[in-house]
Amino acid sequence: RVAVVGAGVSGLTATKCCLDEGLEPTCFEQSQDIGGVWRYTEHIEAGRPSLYPSVISNTSKEMSAFSDFPFPEDFPVFLPNAQLLDYLQRYAEHFSLREHIKLGTTVVSIRKHPDFATTGQWNVVTEAGGKQTSHVFDAVMVCSGHLSEPSLPLHCFPGIERFRGQYFHSRQYKHPDMFQGKRVLVVGMGNSGVDIAVEASRVAAKVTISTTRGSWLLSRVFDHGYPWDMVLNTRLMSLIKTNLPRPLPWWLMNYKLNQRFNHENYGLQPEKSCLVREPVLNDDLPSYILTGRITIKPGVKEFKDNSVVFHNCPEEEPIDIVVFCTGYNVSFPFLEESVVRVENKHGSLYKYVFPTHLQKPTLAVLGLIKPFGGIMPVAEMQARWVSRVFKGLCQLPSQSVMEKEVNEQKKNQVRWFGLTFDEVLKTEWLVYLDTLASFIGAKPSVLGLLCTDPWLALTIFFGPCSPYQYRLGGPGRWEGARQAILTQWDRILKPTRTRVPAASSSSF
Ligand code: NAP
Repeated sequence: RVAVVGAGVSGLTATKCCLDEGLEPTCFEQSQDIGGVWRYTEHIEAGRPSLYPSVISNTSKEMSAFSDFPFPEDFPVFLPNAQLLDYLQRYAEHFSLREHIKLGTTVVSIRKHPDFATTGQWNVVTEAGGKQTSHVFDAVMVCSGHLSEPSLPLHCFPGIERFRGQYFHSRQYKHPDMFQGKRVLVVGMGNSGVDIAVEASRVAAKVTISTTRGSWLLSRVFDHGYPWDMVLNTRLMSLIKTNLPRPLPWWLMNYKLNQRFNHENYGLQPEKSCLVREPVLNDDLPSYILTGRITIKPGVKEFKDNSVVFHNCPEEEPIDIVVFCTGYNVSFPFLEESVVRVENKHGSLYKYVFPTHLQKPTLAVLGLIKPFGGIMPVAEMQARWVSRVFKGLCQLPSQSVMEKEVNEQKKNQVRWFGLTFDEVLKTEWLVYLDTLASFIGAKPSVLGLLCTDPWLALTIFFGPCSPYQYRLGGPGRWEGARQAILTQWDRILKPTRTRVPAASSSSF
């Protein structure tokens, strides 16, 4: 019996993967419906993520799909939040997940059972309708997400207490009308910051983004108009990135990302150009900077009554509204620190999933990772691996080996990036997927396929690493995987190639 905490992307796929392995999942969802971050509500609910209605997925539908459930072909290439929720609902219906989900039920605490050392069991207390219930589960998958608890580090902004304008965290943002005619400052250049700045600039008098680190900016529309992740996340590219001597892949990336526009000229150049923070995806920002709708400034030095001063900028800038797009804290209030301790948003988890020090590997955290690609296939792969570990079909290495790897990873992150903000959660998408897939025996063998199915092998190697690749063989093999891979571009073109000129009129 497995307790799954949360019925968002990770919780749904965790429930499904448990069922696939013959485990008995019970998924507890505190809100009144499934979908997690993708379930938009106009009203901001405590303890739940809050979206603004214009959010569109940053990864394309083919690279975001669960590996045995492609998006409908007529869905747009990048998904508006309502369609992403629709997809999750279809997934839940298709795999009959709803009967395993208890809505309106909050997990209050998860504690080791007194016999934990021998059974690995957990005491789980839930609350529904004001009534608490205790359960005993053999294992737990924590799928509660990390976008519910806003990080608003006001102490980093001297003078904010005297600022007379309005300020709030991006979590509070819903619609741009509030910016009408105002001078707006957006603090933080993550995806929320850029999205909100772009929306605000359509109605505001002036919009400024303050960024301490700068960022590489990617466009959803990449080379030849194809989605960025279908161009960049290929096995060929990954081989190049991971095998070239260290500075070369960074240099190539700098070169590639500066091809569309020079980041330095637009004030966007990352502080350390080798720093690959989570990319910011936005198609409008460069043109909005070019047309003067948005100005990029360095970090905030201090706030004054009605203005702000930026580092290295002598003049004050008058401001009416500040939106702090400063991200989120990671926390698991229902767990003891001795089980999962979060430091700098890092849970010190083996492969970002398993605590390293438990006598029994019966608790896993899913989705606490920011890969350079779609999160849904990653959460699904984690769930496939975890359910096989729970079942005893996959073994974890010894505690010392796991700890060594976790510490090594932290050290490397410090060496390459500095342990700040969200960097510790980033990892190479394809390498990570391949690693977990190899644990469960689902990693595709390109060389093997070259002999038996050369066309498929070439598509897999040179084409996008769409998640269906991980259903070609091994446990959880899906009959439709080969077909899904060979038709992935059709599903991408279907919603856009909506006007085909008559043959007679195509004179060239
Ligand atoms: P975020 O990616 O965590 O970015 C927060 C930013 O706030 C930092 O990058 C930093 O920006 C700034 N910051 C943080 N602490 C600061 C401090 N103490 N002082 C000054 N600045 C500070 O947060 P987010 O943009 O809200 O995004 C959260 C997650 O949701 C991300 O994974 C994001 O990709 C995702 N998201 C996705 C979409 C989408 O799919 N369309 C839309 C929005 C968000 P600077 O370095 O620039 O100063």
